[in-house]
Order: sequence, then C-alpha cells, then structure tokens
Amino acid sequence: MFNGGVLELALEKHFPGFRLALDLAVQEGEVLALLGPSGSGKSTLLKLIAGLLSPDRGFVRFRGQDLTPLPPERRRVGFLFQDYALFPHLTVAENIAFGLVEARWPGKEREARVKELLERMELTPHAQKRPQELSGGEQQRVALARALAPRPRLLLLDEPLGALDLRLREELLFFLRRTLRAEGVTTLVVTHDQGEAFLLAHRVALLRQGRLVQVGLPEEVYARPKDLWTARFLGHKN
Ligand code: ADP
Ligand code: MG
Repeated sequence: MFNGGVLELALEKHFPGFRLALDLAVQEGEVLALLGPSGSGKSTLLKLIAGLLSPDRGFVRFRGQDLTPLPPERRRVGFLFQDYALFPHLTVAENIAFGLVEARWPGKEREARVKELLERMELTPHAQKRPQELSGGEQQRVALARALAPRPRLLLLDEPLGALDLRLREELLFFLRRTLRAEGVTTLVVTHDQGEAFLLAHRVALLRQGRLVQVGLPEEVYARPKDLWTARFLGHKN
C-alpha cells in the first residue's frame, strides 16, 4: 500500500456530521502542503498525527514505529499553530530553550542550539527581551524556533502565516523556507495560499470532506486539477 514513506498514515476519525478517512505516505525530509476548504479536516489530521486526538481506527507510523499509542510529548513532533502562545514571563532565549530543558539537553548543547536558531531567525539582538517587546512577525519567528529547537522528527504547521499581514507573511515565508531547508525536517503545512504552497512544498495534498482528493507536485495539481470541484477550489475560472 505504501511505497516506503518515512511517515505512514492510515486514519479514520468520526465526529457528528464529519468523517475523516485517508491513507498517506510522506517521504523523508519532504514538505507537504495540505490544502482544503474550511472544515475539510486539515487541523483534525494534524492533531491525529501529533497525538492530540486519537483515531477511531488506523495508525501513525514513523520509520516503521507505531506512534499511535504514544502521548504527544513522546512523539518528537513539533507544532506551530496560528495562535502560537509564547511564555510571556520568559525571555526569547528561554522560550526557545524551553523544550530543550524539558528534554534534559546538557547545558552546552542547549546553548549552542539556541544560539544557532537565534542567528538563523535573526533574533540575536532580541535574545534577552520578553515576547511582548517584539513585533508580531518576530514573535512568530520565536515560536518557529521554539518548535524546531528539540530537533523534532516531524514538524506540523497549521496556517502558520494566517494571522499576519501581507508584509509579515512574506517575511516569515522567507524564514520558513530557509529553515525547512536547513533543518531538513519532514513537514506538513496547512496553507490557503498557492504562492506559499509553491514556495515551500515538494508536494501538495488536497483535502475535501475528510478525504484526499489529489496528491501531487504543486505544478501538476495546479495545472491539471483532477475534477471540476478541484479546479474551482484552486481558483480556475471555468
Ligand atoms: P479544517 O482545519 O480543515 O478547517 P477541522 O479539522 O478543524 O477542519 O474540522 C473538520 C470537521 O470536524 C468540522 O466539521 C469540525 O466541526 C469537526 N470537528 C473538529 N474538531 C472537533 C471536535 N473536537 N469535536 C467535534 N467535531 C469536531
Ligand atoms: Mg483548521
């Protein structure tokens, strides 16, 4: 059924009036963009992978290991949602180090990792500030650095740019692209934006009513939508 994805999903989840049922394999280091209308199950899918929800049937497998029975904190999954919440009483550096302290990284390695991420996100001058002293875009960069710090084997981004204005979206998109390439972390990113999907993703997956409609290279999916609904959703005129 799967051709050797590093992440293998076979999931079913039922809510009143909604049913998610899909199989998907994601390759090592791949960035997969998840597209779909509101209510199509994008966030539900990410929560099932993160362990914030349990499936009714099926599994989440990573390199052959079944993660389904593991609680979220043991899955080594990083996530970043639109309403990211930084710890207001901690500095930027302490926010980034948070997961490393929890995972008991030795002090030296912790410092080196925080320094590396501060530099990559161009946050070094802000290291000792509190989140509320930063702009929205800078805060979102801190949240991204914090999610990546413990070297998660999977990164889940749920509309990470959604709450930002156009200029900040473009800025964060630049950081996101650079960071995902540098870290090589397997990523699922929910987006509504075609430009984002093209810039970030190796493949796009289109979700409708809890089902996968089409999965492919961005240029394929946009150039050859599978049916009329897909074409309309992607913004084709006819
Ligand atoms: P999307 O992120 O694509 O907008 P969601 O995954 O948030 O969609 O939601 C998919 C469907 O599942 C919606 O109909 C939503 O109302 C429903 N749903 C999501 N979470 C729950 C929940 N905890 N309990 C009941 N229904 C839910
Ligand atoms: Mg959602």
